[in-house]
Amino acid sequence: MSRHYDLVVIGAGSGGVRAARMASTYGAKVAIIEEYRLGGTCVIRGCVPKKLFVLASRYPEQFEVAQSFGWSFGEPEFNWSTLLSNKDKEIDRLEGIYGNILGGANVEIIRDRGVVTGPNSVKLAKANEELSADRILVATGGRPFVPNIPGSELGITSNEAFHLKELPKKILVNGGGYIAVEFAGIFAGLGVETTLLYRGDQILRGFDEDVREIVAEQMKARGVEIKLNANIERMDRCADGNIDVSFDTGEVVEFGEVMFATGRVPNIEGLGLDTADVKLNKSGAIDVDAYSQTSCHSIYAVGDVTDRAALTPVAIREGAAFVETVYNDTPTAVDHSIIPTAVFSEPEIGTVGMVEHEAAKAHSKVNVYLSTFRPMQNTLTSRPEKMLFKLITDGETDKVLGVHIVGPSAGEMIQMVGIAVSMGATKADFDRTIAVHPTAAEELVTLKAPTYQLVDGKRAN
Ligand code: NDP
Repeated sequence: MSRHYDLVVIGAGSGGVRAARMASTYGAKVAIIEEYRLGGTCVIRGCVPKKLFVLASRYPEQFEVAQSFGWSFGEPEFNWSTLLSNKDKEIDRLEGIYGNILGGANVEIIRDRGVVTGPNSVKLAKANEELSADRILVATGGRPFVPNIPGSELGITSNEAFHLKELPKKILVNGGGYIAVEFAGIFAGLGVETTLLYRGDQILRGFDEDVREIVAEQMKARGVEIKLNANIERMDRCADGNIDVSFDTGEVVEFGEVMFATGRVPNIEGLGLDTADVKLNKSGAIDVDAYSQTSCHSIYAVGDVTDRAALTPVAIREGAAFVETVYNDTPTAVDHSIIPTAVFSEPEIGTVGMVEHEAAKAHSKVNVYLSTFRPMQNTLTSRPEKMLFKLITDGETDKVLGVHIVGPSAGEMIQMVGIAVSMGATKADFDRTIAVHPTAAEELVTLKAPTYQLVDGKRAN
């Protein structure tokens, strides 16, 4: 007789853990299978260690600014191994908390690789044991995608970036998305000569054009070389251990490390999804309906493996919605239409809702409010960096369609603005709110006349 569960979850990342413990709280008998570490990408090799690195990388600028505020001190020194070991301790602590939370909720943790063998069965690869389950939740996340280029195996991805024995003198980061800009900022802040390589005209495709421009400009001002409209053609190991990178522009440049941040792919290889007829979508992710149910009715999937929005809070929300739907008799679909998000680049980005060109397509009249200014912390220094606040509203209903912020604490601000935007706030609601002074965020409620208007997609003034 195989062990039987109401729910078997494969993958103990953000989505899987949330679903497992909530289902158990509702009385289901739950097992969660994890082959690596509890916590998934976010905790072990994503958001959390990344943010710790980002914080570390921002100190040199703060040391510089501090001097304008009257501070003096000796030459600051940075020790990479101290950061790594402190980061590892923190990740161990968080992993422990995940284990305790699951244990406390009576979820059985199985350290193995789970492979689906049918609509109601999962095999434990190492233990060579089959479990049966009324339902299976696939929450296996994603992994870095590395393009097939000669020599690309010489490069690293974000997975390895968290464990580099030492920082290189010079690094090439390939990609123009979230991970590429964040790591370019980290390396540059920690004193590595950094080049960001992107295949298109401007980094951060999909973000608002003004955001893309100001972020690129300020990354360059902070010493990141941004190389656009170029690709790696091949990579070769040099005698000194460095890597010669040949670009399709004909240039060959030597780097200490090359990091690929060229997107992520769903973790479905060898998962046995075909044994239960679980269908994939065009991008190779698991196809699910609004309730995270797959084409096989006993199998559900949440998080990055479904590629709806590859963000931890989204996976958590999907995991919770699945449980409400299935174990609490409350059909709950996750609203993916308004997702506030932050990019911890330097400068930081916070964004929610539509970008300008989307708004212009969806609405015949659009008002754009744009403001750039030097944040107070720079006013006593010679640092030129400015913050950007952009508010996009529907010219007919006054509804705020999008908010985009660049600069210090943009991520913190956008979380709060996200509440107003998802409640359907209008510009008048923003205007009615009394400013908190002196802050940068007060700009959001003091923007007067539109900087310009768009009528039928075209600038009217
Ligand atoms: P993204 O999709 O954000 O960016 C991938 C980048 O790689 C794009 O610039 C893309 O170019 C480029 N690219 C893709 N394929 C190739 C190729 N073959 N050759 C050259 N360049 C290529 O993925 P990331 O890996 O940066 O991040 C994955 C996801 O993780 C994000 O989308 C985000 O949802 C999440 N994430 C969120 C964070 C946060 O919330 N702060 C932090 C990190 C990750 P192009 O634009 O031209 O397609």
